[in-house]
Amino acid sequence: MARAPLVTEFKGVGPRLAERLARLGIHSIPDLLFHLPLRYEDRTRAVPIADLRPGQQRLVEAQVLDVRLRYRGRRTLWVQVSDGTGGLGLRLFHFSAAQQRALAPGLRIRCFGVVREGPQGVLEMIHPEYRPIDESAPAGEDALTPVYPTTEGLRQQVLRRLTEQALAWMGAPDHPLVDWLARGEFGYDLEEALRYVHRPPPDTDLALLGQGRHPAQLRLAFEELLAHQLSLVQLRERIRRQGAPALAAADRLYARFRQRLPFALTGAQGRVIAEILADMAQPRPMLRLVQGDVGSGKTVVAAAACLRAVEAGHQAAVMAPTELLAEQHYRNFGAWMSALGVETAWLSGRQPARERGRMLERIASGAAAVAVGTHALFQEAVRFQDLALVVVDEQHRFGVHQRLALREKGRAGGACPHQLIMTATPIPRTLAMTAYADLDYSVIDELPPGRRPIQTIAVPQRRRAEVLERVARVCGQEGRQAYWVCTLVQESEALQCQAAEATASRLAQALPELAVGLVHGRMAPRDKESIMGRFQAGEIQLLVATTVIEVGVDVPNASLMIIEDPERLGLAQLHQLRGRVGRGAVQST
Ligand code: ADP
Ligand code: MG
Repeated sequence: MARAPLVTEFKGVGPRLAERLARLGIHSIPDLLFHLPLRYEDRTRAVPIADLRPGQQRLVEAQVLDVRLRYRGRRTLWVQVSDGTGGLGLRLFHFSAAQQRALAPGLRIRCFGVVREGPQGVLEMIHPEYRPIDESAPAGEDALTPVYPTTEGLRQQVLRRLTEQALAWMGAPDHPLVDWLARGEFGYDLEEALRYVHRPPPDTDLALLGQGRHPAQLRLAFEELLAHQLSLVQLRERIRRQGAPALAAADRLYARFRQRLPFALTGAQGRVIAEILADMAQPRPMLRLVQGDVGSGKTVVAAAACLRAVEAGHQAAVMAPTELLAEQHYRNFGAWMSALGVETAWLSGRQPARERGRMLERIASGAAAVAVGTHALFQEAVRFQDLALVVVDEQHRFGVHQRLALREKGRAGGACPHQLIMTATPIPRTLAMTAYADLDYSVIDELPPGRRPIQTIAVPQRRRAEVLERVARVCGQEGRQAYWVCTLVQESEALQCQAAEATASRLAQALPELAVGLVHGRMAPRDKESIMGRFQAGEIQLLVATTVIEVGVDVPNASLMIIEDPERLGLAQLHQLRGRVGRGAVQST
């Protein structure tokens, strides 16, 4: 394929606009074509007012009946319109004197906005776009209006103008966009599919399109998944060709480790460990994803793999996504390994320079056979003597790119370390095969005996008082601890932290007998740790938190978690959060 032309070749795209586009990952014209709308607005035709339903976003043509200026709360221009089938209220907040004068009774206007139910069940639009009807202009637009994902300083009109140019560019006979899929079952070739999703014709099934289920969208989704899968498969082949140290050992360390464990492995743990050890004995790098519910005992599985590497005379690295979790692993691994005479090193972004220097030395000399840490493990300065195994815990925190970057940190001499990736997120098998096409897949599908499944209940806001009672009882009479997790729609950490602060003080007021603590992402790491430490020690009974507690906190006495507005979170996040309770013997909720 020829070089993809850059967006800067389009008229009017200077350095400033190019910089904004780059923020969206748009550099070339094909990037622009694959920048797909988030949603659509229908301004293609006017809808009778009688057909409007709350929640819809519609175009209406109507006549102004009445206009009033109101000062209740804020200065509002209240306009009553009708189209003969029904009446509609419009509320304008920002308007000039000229606008106000122009909106006289009798004027016919075309307005576009979200319909809602106002006082007394009257339908209205809050601050719609509107324009006097110009009888000479076409009534509606000839395609649905796309609304694109955007960034600060980049208006929708600009994106629409640019995609318009990109669609025209695609129409040229010699454009370098290669269509390598047959039209197939979706009935659209690449060009048709792109045209359709950028400018859907007026007769499009909006509901279908809104759900992302239109054949043109399916065709593009299929192509993306296929490309993703093929590139991962290609990568896997490349890595497998590199070769890895075949780690054969009698597993004496592992046998001693098992003897010392205060429990027997579950059948699932045993099976997955066997799969891993068989992989590691091969002269090709293991590339294995282990999925196991929170509490299914993945840490022990990781330890077994590390011990094989160590006994075969090599090093292993265990990477966790957060400082807290890395520290917890270091404590576990450190204790297990030192009982077997194996030295463990620890690397974190925050440790004192002296300690870090000492750890780097132990890792470089090979004295430390196991290294535990955060991303800090994979920085330039870290040199392993002979790294043969990389374990990545809680994979969902890392993207594909980070996963790939890890692979570069192999041994000298071109061989690749074996890789074990662990996640608690349940992944449907078909999705795993697509999204993780470069990995083999094992499941720990059994919990250690005696665990009670966590009760999960949805409670409406109006029963908040009962929830508070429950918190008081669990933390009071029953002597347990609880989490209260705040979520927020906006992707703003600052707002989320404010909301958590407000919630914490309200809860402290409502439950004066409890010690309430607060952690959020904007606190200094030291403060965060001190609060977590006090929760761990039982000094704090109710911990209000943002989703920072998602990963790795281990407080077995916590048996209740309340998640406000859980619908704002994704499945993986909910799953991780829920795993913070049910870590002791009592029934958790
Ligand atoms: P996760 O899969 O969430 O990482 P962990 O490895 O942290 O789970 O294990 C959760 C707890 O279960 C730990 O306290 C661990 O010691 C314990 N555990 C692991 N395997 C077993 C087992 N086979 N029987 C009993 N307890 C186990
Ligand atoms: Mg774990």
